[in-house]
Order: sequence, then C-alpha cells, then structure tokens
Amino acid sequence: MATRIDGKAFAASLREKVAEGVATFVAKAGRKPGLAVVLVGEDPASQVYVRNKHKMTVAAGMESFEHRLPADTSQEALLALVDQLNADPAVDGILVQLPLPKGLDENAVIQAIDPDKDVDGFTTASAGRLATGLPGFVACTPLGCLMLLKDQLGDLSGKNAVVIGRSNIVGKPMAQLLLQESCTVTIAHSRTVDLPAVVRGADIVVAAVGRPEMVKGDWIKPGATVIDVGINRVPAAEEGKTKLVGDVDFAGAEATAGAITPVPGGVGPMTIACLLYNTLEAANRREGLA
Ligand code: NDP
Repeated sequence: MATRIDGKAFAASLREKVAEGVATFVAKAGRKPGLAVVLVGEDPASQVYVRNKHKMTVAAGMESFEHRLPADTSQEALLALVDQLNADPAVDGILVQLPLPKGLDENAVIQAIDPDKDVDGFTTASAGRLATGLPGFVACTPLGCLMLLKDQLGDLSGKNAVVIGRSNIVGKPMAQLLLQESCTVTIAHSRTVDLPAVVRGADIVVAAVGRPEMVKGDWIKPGATVIDVGINRVPAAEEGKTKLVGDVDFAGAEATAGAITPVPGGVGPMTIACLLYNTLEAANRREGLA
C-alpha cells in the first residue's frame, strides 16, 4: 500500500517557514513583504481563492493589497493598475486572478507584470528563465509538486518522469523543473499513443489533465511516486451531492504506487503556500537579501 503524501501538512509547515522568513525580512528591511492581488469581476470560485490568499498572506505576516475591480473594467484601466503596482515599492509580488472577464486580454495583462514581481510565474519572461535555468519565479502548482517529490524521494536524478498534460501553468513548467533535477522527462498529452504503456515506464507520474480518475491503477509501475494535480468535481454516491476527485484512480493506484498524493489534501494546499514562498523570495531579492 502506497504512502499517502500529506500535502496539507507539508503546506502548513512551509507556511510556517515562510512566516519565520518574513520575520527575518522585517527585521532587516524594516518593512513587510507585500503581495498585491487583483480580482476583476464576480467569479465565485475566484472570490474564494482571493479570500484564502488574503487570509494566508496576512497570517504569514505579509502585507496583502487587494484590488477588486468591476467586471466592466477596461483593458487600459487594468494595465494602468498593473503599471502602478510594478512601480510601487511596497509591492513585491503581483497576482492577477484568472480567468479575467470576457473582453479583457489575459495575455497582455499577465505580460505587463514586472518579471521580478511575477510570483505566479506566468509571464513569458518567467517561463524563459525557467527553461534556461536563470533565477526567476516558477508557477506555484508545479513548484509545490516538486517540493513534495523532493521531500518524498530526495535526489530525483536519473528517474524516469512522465508528466501528463502540457499546459503553460502546470504541465510545461513541471517538465522543466523535473529536467532541471536531471530526470528523464516525457511529456504526454491528448495525442500521446498508448498512454498506459508510457506511464508504466515512469518512476514519477505527475497527472495534470483535468479528467476524473483517468489514470488507472494498472498503469502505475510498482513503487512509483504519483502526484495528482487534477481537481475534478463529480457526483457523489449520495444523491444531489458532489465530491472532488483527482486525475488518478486513487484506490487503484494506491495499491501499486510507492507514494501518492490524495485529492483533496495533496497538491491543492501547496499552491497558496508556494505563492507565499515566492512572494518572500521576491521581497528578499528586491532588497538584496536573497
Ligand atoms: P489544461 O486543460 O490547460 O491542460 C490539460 C492537459 O491535459 C492538456 O495538455 C491536454 O492535452 C491533456 N489531456 C487532455 N485529455 C487527455 C487525455 N485523454 N490523455 C492525455 N492527456 C490529455 O489543464 P491545467 O493544466 O490547467 O489543469 C490540469 C488539472 O489540474 C485540472 O484538473 C485542474 O483543475 C488542476 N489544477 C490544479 C491546481 C491546484 O492544485 N492548485 C492548479 C492548476 C490546475 P492537449 O494539450 O493535447 O490538449
């Protein structure tokens, strides 16, 4: 039976470490690290994320600057806000909550963020820095996955890693991080031929697909480490209720894997913890303390 990787506990201890780092930063810099979060419109899921980010930012001892704008905000007004935050010395990290309402150019807004404040790691500058091994910010979800993997396995060098999914926010940066750790990396996607056979060769499987329980237990090599990024809401056994499942058939994979992240309580809690981690890092770099 696989070890369950407790992302919730790991994220809590990472947030504590960040809070300690924040206290050291405050003592040296004479100010708090600041994270600015921009939320445009009324998307209910985004509202919950932004609320949680605010709570945890404050709990870590950082300054949280929330900018809530109406759904009919113009592109120009949004870009002007990003410029203002880029120039604000109290702001170390900027996050624009996605998705933006229709009519706004998400890419243009993200690219306007100063790469040195891009704590979400979504700008092409950040992606390029990651791909070329330069210091920059790595997208929070793949960064969290890597932390869990290193905690579980130590040195990842030489391992066969399969990342299922090639999105810019999860799959691609995940593959880059694993490559940096000297894994032999395969990126699988919707056109991959015989995915089960590809996955069977993997010591490390990262599933970031968005398809409930797609990865089956008999695809998993015995002893492999499985990181399930998927968050899918599906009908529960009880009528009218729903539950969250990952992209991996947990019950099936748990019997074969060496270690596996559950959903919920695996990768999910790591994302905000890594956002705080990146924000502290941004603050330290800006003050020359990194
Ligand atoms: P995307 O929809 O952007 O990407 C999904 C990827 O899966 C694509 O590359 C797609 O391939 C691939 N794919 C789709 N179907 C198949 C298939 N049948 N076989 C193999 N590959 C397939 O999703 P994201 O990367 O944004 O997110 C993935 C999952 O992770 C989602 O469940 C999301 O909710 C979750 N997530 C969780 C986060 C967290 O824990 N905090 C944060 C971000 C995401 P192709 O490119 O060929 O279309």
